[in-house]
Amino acid sequence: MSTPLLSVRDLSTHFPVRKGLFGRGTQVVRAVDGITFELPHGETLGLVGESGCGKSTLGRTVLRLLSPTSGHIEFEGTDITHMPQADLRPLRRRMQIVFQDPFGSLNPRMTVRAAIGEAMRIHRLASGPEDERKRVAALMERVGLRPDTMERYPHEFSGGQRQRIGIARALAVEPKLIVADEPVSALDVSIQAQIVNLLMDLQDDLGIGFLFIAHDLKVVEHVSHRVAVMYLGRIVELASSEALVGDPKHPYTRALLAAVPEARPRAKREKRRLLTGDVPSPIAPPPGCPFHPRCPIAEPDRCAREVPRLRALADGRQVACHLADEGHASDA
Ligand code: SF4
Repeated sequence: MSTPLLSVRDLSTHFPVRKGLFGRGTQVVRAVDGITFELPHGETLGLVGESGCGKSTLGRTVLRLLSPTSGHIEFEGTDITHMPQADLRPLRRRMQIVFQDPFGSLNPRMTVRAAIGEAMRIHRLASGPEDERKRVAALMERVGLRPDTMERYPHEFSGGQRQRIGIARALAVEPKLIVADEPVSALDVSIQAQIVNLLMDLQDDLGIGFLFIAHDLKVVEHVSHRVAVMYLGRIVELASSEALVGDPKHPYTRALLAAVPEARPRAKREKRRLLTGDVPSPIAPPPGCPFHPRCPIAEPDRCAREVPRLRALADGRQVACHLADEGHASDA
């Protein structure tokens, strides 16, 4: 079996927070809590869940922009979990991030040419200013921007164009992995489709692996080979996009899909159970199954006491629900 691009085992990222405004002592936010998955080269794993479920923290932790509390991260077979920042530097080139708000991540005083060329200079990828200019021009063309606009500043571009600049900047260092953190959430629907198609084309051409983070299950399903659904810092279901959308097994996945009925046009007679209640605090997650206070099929005794572990079903998907292979979960 070939080495995966990214291998994550039992990864946790916890943050200490002060108790109350003037309180003494600390509590722990379990933002990412025991996550395991693999991402093969050239594939996309979608991470989906409500706001606060830990998906962005997970994306930043696998890039080592945040320090993990425990667990393991391997990038192309190299353990980077506790690698010193100086040793990480050469690897950083192959692991990039595209943010939701490219305007916030682009220096307003830098021209597009300087912004895209900056990483090339840091990693000494261009042989000189003229080579750098040619590379910037080629990248701009590749992402659908006119190279003759490279001396302009970020505010002179639209939101979709700025996201293309952000993608070109990530591509400048020839990455193998891109964490795309809500890359289309801030864009108009028509522009979203263009950016999503651009990312898929880039994957086909360059074999880049993506961790695609979004709260919109419809977008995630469209771009991803597999999808991991997160709830309170944990994966509750991980399956191929088709299996997840066609026959979701976890009640939380079903609730997310019920919120976007057009995601399942063939499931006509399915009961729509929309999510009620708020996501509980990751400081004090509910005992037993963390989803039990909101779950329409919870078994009071078992679900409030026993934590369901993520386990493989016969079709290969993974689900963290006591009832997932008893037929009840998919009938919910
Ligand atoms: Fe619902 Fe129980 Fe399954 Fe949790 S383990 S999702 S509470 S049925």
